Amino acid sequence: MDKDERRLSDALILGTALAAGALALAVNIPAVQEIFASRSRKKLAGLPDYPAYQKGQRVLMVSPHPDDETLATGAQISQAVRNGAEVYIAWMTNGDGFVLDSLIAERTDKPKGDLELGRTRMKEGQKAGATLGVGSEHQRFLGFPDGSLKKVWEAGLQDGDKVVESSATHATAVPYEGTLHPQQPYTANNFRQDITELLDDIKPDFVLLPAIHDMHPDHHATNLFWTQVLRERGELKKARYWLIHGGLEWPLPKGLLPHFPLLVSPRGKKMAWQQFEVQQEDQLNKLQAVFAHETQVDMLLNFMLSFCRANELVALED
Ligand SMILES: [Zn+2]
Repeated sequence: MDKDERRLSDALILGTALAAGALALAVNIPAVQEIFASRSRKKLAGLPDYPAYQKGQRVLMVSPHPDDETLATGAQISQAVRNGAEVYIAWMTNGDGFVLDSLIAERTDKPKGDLELGRTRMKEGQKAGATLGVGSEHQRFLGFPDGSLKKVWEAGLQDGDKVVESSATHATAVPYEGTLHPQQPYTANNFRQDITELLDDIKPDFVLLPAIHDMHPDHHATNLFWTQVLRERGELKKARYWLIHGGLEWPLPKGLLPHFPLLVSPRGKKMAWQQFEVQQEDQLNKLQAVFAHETQVDMLLNFMLSFCRANELVALED
């Protein structure tokens, strides 16, 4: 690319970003929101209802980071527990890779180590889980490296026992107490073994997974690992899918709009979604669980509140 072409391409990128920003601002104006809301309800009108989980059913939420459990399925979990279902949450990572977050959260130029952030976010996950009704005996932490799950998956394509180093903490083995296997090396085979152990132990009827179309590499890799193991066991039909990183500026509008529907994301357009209707009590629990993630709320509050809507979206196929 020569200089002129580069200048043109920079201008195009800037123009697109500005247009997206202006659109985001426009849909956040209340009058525009009302028009947008009624159109949105119409758009979702054709989607089938997704039923709440009931007594006798066993549900496993697979959460790549502490906060996904709340944002994607907080209301489903809360209602399932109220209905008497057995609900478990398994966190793949402790969220120790969010370096920018550790800088901002500590408001200091000497942030605590990433392992401290990992320990803090593990506690936040525990608190959020308990707020949704899932106590510590139904919580599992794998402690794999935040931001490096894709690396673990890719290394495993060559050699399942190849040890991967976390880009954030430089750990090569699970550094946290209270995880499934502390000190276990970061390998694809160990990750798959943990998944197998969870499935054998919990025997879920439903496994709630990030969709393959989720933009976050950890979410994507979580999908690849879990669908691989479920497929091998002939249990893929147990999977239900959710999506958080659904494309530029999604979800719109941003912020707390509890009566507004969560729309299908740009990246999820080709998926067959069903909508779960959120009850008020569960919406309040979800909102409270959002605030359990103090390190995240500091930075991402508006984004996180955008998931506390009148519905949650669930897909039966990826
Ligand atoms: Zn996540």
